[in-house]
Amino acid sequence: MSYSKDLLRQILNKIDGKVALSFSYQAEDVVVLHLLSQCKIKSLEVFTLDTGKLFDECKELHKETEKFFKISIKKYLPKKNDVKNMENKLGFLGMRESLENRHLCCHVRKTKPLGRALKDKNAWITGLRAAQSITRSELRFVEYDEKFDLFKINPIVSWSEEDVFGYIKKYNLPLNSLYSRGFKSIGCEPCTRAVKNHEDVRAGRWWWENPEHKECGLHVKER
Ligand code: SF4
Repeated sequence: MSYSKDLLRQILNKIDGKVALSFSYQAEDVVVLHLLSQCKIKSLEVFTLDTGKLFDECKELHKETEKFFKISIKKYLPKKNDVKNMENKLGFLGMRESLENRHLCCHVRKTKPLGRALKDKNAWITGLRAAQSITRSELRFVEYDEKFDLFKINPIVSWSEEDVFGYIKKYNLPLNSLYSRGFKSIGCEPCTRAVKNHEDVRAGRWWWENPEHKECGLHVKER
């Protein structure tokens, strides 16, 4: 684990310009934030995509994390007109009716705001892990993201779920209370549910879809 911190520090030392961490209320994001807090980076922006569909527990973690790390987490919101037009078309839970609808909702509420968040950044740090799902198995510690034209750094790419929760416990870091209610991955309220112990980490995300479709477009590579 100290390997992740040391390599992260070395890579960040070589990157000019602005660096951002996307914070999506997962245990992994808190771990990465803690690693970054020990790297002494000059210009780090910690941001979240406030989709308008977040659980109250995420809003609580938002405040708790700001207090714990003495930072401000910047919110990027979808454009009101985009949301209005989409809701007129899809209705309230239309994202569950087809993959096309769900992708449209994720595009409006997540991908477009992410584009604004990353527009002036040179590197994007995430809490992604390769073991989380079939769609993430080829992730690397550092890669070039063609879609957003920047370096993408995944410092805990090789960590296991046990590593993450062991680290949280060791440093007594803030944790989303949804985990204690059986959630294993955190997303928007209409698209995320608790899972059984034997189920996959991402089984509660878009549970009506096949595993190979379970990404919101933020981490999909250009082909
Ligand atoms: S996760 Fe669900 S509610 Fe959130 S942006 Fe995607 S489709 Fe919309």
